Amino acid sequence: MKELKLSNIKYLVIHCSATKANQPFSVESLVTTGKEKFGQCSYHYYITRKGFVFKLLPLSVQGVHVSGYNSCSVGICYEGGYDANGHPADTRTETQRTAMLELLKDLKTFFPTARIVGHCELPGVAKSCPCFIPSKEYASL
Ligand SMILES: [Zn+2]
Repeated sequence: MKELKLSNIKYLVIHCSATKANQPFSVESLVTTGKEKFGQCSYHYYITRKGFVFKLLPLSVQGVHVSGYNSCSVGICYEGGYDANGHPADTRTETQRTAMLELLKDLKTFFPTARIVGHCELPGVAKSCPCFIPSKEYASL
């Protein structure tokens, strides 16, 4: 795994797991999928539908979650992002939203100048992930 220099962190990038909200996607599945695809866990944090926050990677190592920005970002993934029909949707539960807000507030105390963005907001990304616009929702943080 590559080193992530904390002084380089410019973005807190929000993702969804791109799984149906009515089909649980466990933290173990997330880790396994990352290891199979990228040889390591992709994200630093995972927020489940029940609002549990798992820290999966130390901030001192790079995630593998967004092409071109892994060396300057923290990756945060929430469980869901697709509705029951498989269409992209903001499927966050109330507890998930609360957990995400608390996590972002904490991270902003350590990285006050970091911008909170969604995967889809970064240049050259043609994905709906995370199915809402974090820079708008968290503009006040
Ligand atoms: Zn993503």
